[in-house]
Amino acid sequence: MFRRVLIANRGEIALRILRACHEMGIEAVCVYSEADRDAPYLRLADRAICIGPGPSKDSYLNISRIIAAAEIADVDAIHPGYGFLSERADFSQICRESKIEFIGPSPEAMRKLGDKVECKRTARAAKVPIFPGSEGEIEDEDEAAQIASDIGYPVIIKASAGGGGRGMRVCRNEASLRTNIRAAQQEALAAFGNGAVFIEKFLEHARHIEVQVLGDKHGHAVHLFERDCSIQRRHQKLIEEAPAPGVDRKKIAQLGEGAARLIKQADYAGAATVEFLMDANQQFYMLEVNTRVQVEHPVTELITGIDIVKASISVAAGEPLGFKQKDISVTGHAIECRINAEDPDHDFRPSAGLIETWRPAGGPGVRLDTHVSAGYRVPPNYDSMIGKLLIHDDSREEALARLGRSLNEFEVGPIKTTLPLYQRLLDNSDFRAGGVDIHYLERWMK
Ligand code: ADP
Repeated sequence: MFRRVLIANRGEIALRILRACHEMGIEAVCVYSEADRDAPYLRLADRAICIGPGPSKDSYLNISRIIAAAEIADVDAIHPGYGFLSERADFSQICRESKIEFIGPSPEAMRKLGDKVECKRTARAAKVPIFPGSEGEIEDEDEAAQIASDIGYPVIIKASAGGGGRGMRVCRNEASLRTNIRAAQQEALAAFGNGAVFIEKFLEHARHIEVQVLGDKHGHAVHLFERDCSIQRRHQKLIEEAPAPGVDRKKIAQLGEGAARLIKQADYAGAATVEFLMDANQQFYMLEVNTRVQVEHPVTELITGIDIVKASISVAAGEPLGFKQKDISVTGHAIECRINAEDPDHDFRPSAGLIETWRPAGGPGVRLDTHVSAGYRVPPNYDSMIGKLLIHDDSREEALARLGRSLNEFEVGPIKTTLPLYQRLLDNSDFRAGGVDIHYLERWMK
């Protein structure tokens, strides 16, 4: 097992990884930017190293500074967390060349699943359901028009190297498709350095359902069932829950097996998520694979009892997964609410600044993953998420009641957060019934 790990991230996920390291008897080295120098979790680190000024490009995204810190601290491995460098194959490669284990997939596996066209090809071979659409990259307008008329409008043009919701265009007829193809290729080339685009069927009403998977370096892969992440705003997830309400369990099991096959085919070691959209007939279509631990991973930890962060550290150290598919089962229901420092009453404008009041919820079935407390100043430089309130109970009904009770307890001020929005959502009968689509929240808030 590793002796010492560097955590190339900040905030709640840095603390989450630090806790896993300490429980495994591993020393944790944190890196931080000048904007994070007062972050309380740095006191828990075995060593903390400043890697530069506030802007991410000068610190958390700066590969040479992070590798320098890793060498100074003489670590065996680097955990990238999520965001920042976590999905950069070049970073995984540089770690390998520096003889530092990257806690995540090899650069080859990351490239194979991170490129959307390549990923679709691998998915097709693994019999994972994908959207009808082009087999690979689109060469010209006529080819696109032919495929679109075969699958039917609307269609969506996507960049193979795209990410973060960028580089996508929805086309509702042939004229729009023809004008958008060339523009999409040019835009993709400028934004991602790769002009490859493809088209697929566009689903108007869908739920976002994703499968958590884990692979090791010995050719084993398992799935840890699904999460429903349909409560979103501008493609940003706000609430995630598991199991997905009302979805056929047989279909979920099939989907899970397919997702595990997919990462196995890519020789993938570590935690990954295979994301799908599901239509009203419970047909699934793969969106993409996230080749890292996700914000919402604790939802799955609560229903399966498996510690995903510890498992990913173990497999990176070369250990086989300690469980088989038949050992994994679902217990109860879990819900996560992301606590963002944003004002939901004013178009979610950022609300950074000093937290004077922080009285968190607690008690049975409540887990709070956060790095903040009273006296913490939320820096304006980074993502607005400051924590995650997680609930576990026997059934969805009970979990919702426990969530309501927890939201009533939780007090934060004077900064604004998304917590009051969740309180209002709990009174919404559609949300309570379960199964709303990915545009529901935006329609409801209008
Ligand atoms: P990115 O990597 O940029 O996040 P995704 O492929 O994951 O791109 O798509 C981002 C979002 O766009 C999805 O969460 C979904 O809301 C929407 N989307 C993508 N593809 C489709 C599709 N075929 N039909 C309907 N919505 C889609």
